[in-house]
Amino acid sequence: MNISIIGTGYVGLVQGVVMADFGMNVICMDVDCSKISMLNKGKVPIYEPGLEELLNKNIATGRLHFTGNIIESIHNCDIIFIAVGTPSKEDGSADLKYILEVARQIGRNIKRRIVIVNKSTVPVGTGKLVRQTIQEELDARNAKIDFDVVSNPEFLREGRAVQDCLLPDRIVIGTESDRAAEMMKKVYDVLFINQTPFLFTNIETAEMIKYASNAFLAVKISFINEMALLAEKAGANIQEIARGMGMDGRISPKFLHAGPGYGGSCFPKDTRAIADIARNHGEQLMIVEAAINANEKQKQKMVEKITSELSKKKKLSETAIAVWGLSFKPETDDVRDAPSIDIIRGLIKEGIKIQAYCPKGIPEAKWRLEDVQHAVTYFDSEYSVAEGADALVLITEWAVFRGVNLKSIRELMRGNIFFDLRNVFRKNKEIKNIFEYHSVGGSD
Ligand code: NAD
Repeated sequence: MNISIIGTGYVGLVQGVVMADFGMNVICMDVDCSKISMLNKGKVPIYEPGLEELLNKNIATGRLHFTGNIIESIHNCDIIFIAVGTPSKEDGSADLKYILEVARQIGRNIKRRIVIVNKSTVPVGTGKLVRQTIQEELDARNAKIDFDVVSNPEFLREGRAVQDCLLPDRIVIGTESDRAAEMMKKVYDVLFINQTPFLFTNIETAEMIKYASNAFLAVKISFINEMALLAEKAGANIQEIARGMGMDGRISPKFLHAGPGYGGSCFPKDTRAIADIARNHGEQLMIVEAAINANEKQKQKMVEKITSELSKKKKLSETAIAVWGLSFKPETDDVRDAPSIDIIRGLIKEGIKIQAYCPKGIPEAKWRLEDVQHAVTYFDSEYSVAEGADALVLITEWAVFRGVNLKSIRELMRGNIFFDLRNVFRKNKEIKNIFEYHSVGGSD
């Protein structure tokens, strides 16, 4: 089977590599020529554990290729996966311009019957829109070519993307075409044999499963964060509360970790998008909207927590804070909508100077924080960043921070306050002898 993947980002690249590993012939296409030229040299343009090894293994088999030429990627393929970005517009709706541009190119260039699969996260109804766009281009060429449209949303988690694609919890396939369903089974034959659960639905249902899943997880995070705010005031301990809740099989302990708020390339934009989709259908998703607002408030609460403690000690304009972790989660270089960005901006607004370190997030954080660069200095280790700081704030729980020598960190600092926004050190018995320690969701 010949597969073309259009959009070679976090999703398209990982899926392309994994599908080649499943035995498919894959060509990955992207408009970003610098990405393609790196990939052609066997280098991965993002940080994703295990990806570079699998990439080179599959390049060596001759099954995996990269191109910047969309026509080359479309010709000779049986299935096209669209994996371009669907960012938020100003009003929160999903911007479909990249998807529709690809659909137009497909309509202009296909020569025989193929299957077009939407892997990007797209609003309900996009499958129909893609079909209509392709058909318009075929009509303009006076070409009578049949084609199928499929929705196959992606559920990978950055930082564990390779593993998630090799061993997914489920594969959702939305299509009205038996032929397309059979071809999709062939693509995922390895998973089919491994008894991965498959769910076949209509296109609209598949499109909505993705948004509903992300919205539910975002609600769960915002819920536990709200409980953490209350626990802190009421003298309760959020980690014990989450444990007690999670013991109930109906609740499960996953996604019950209080923290600085959710971020990343999916939850913020997908919650905004599904709320917008609902409004367009004359409904209001009050729970999802509450989760979005609670998440914004949570980031603001973190800024208030830090500034109210620090202002007891000295003027904020004379304060320097060391930040551990900028990426939206560990094991990725992705800083899109990361809580670190809003928290850092909030602290800078109060006159605080930032010293920042992240194992992989610095390059992207640098351009995202370019407008406040006068107030941020970047460091190259978890130790050097602490030098001369009045306080340390752990925002993203990279494993490297768990193993530090806390006494050495304290000795490098000017002050002694530690805000652990991920509750990493909460059970560490030593911590309060070394720092004035603040976690999320007291009682410490
Ligand atoms: P990304 O920004 O990393 O990658 C998108 C790629 O598409 C970019 O490399 C861009 O250059 C390319 N592109 C844009 N227009 C193009 C065109 N006309 N032709 C060819 N290439 C084009 O985005 P991503 O994180 O991979 O996300 C892609 C989609 O998958 C989004 O809809 C996202 O919501 C969804 N998704 C993402 C994740 C995740 O964890 N990142 C997980 C599940 C689903």
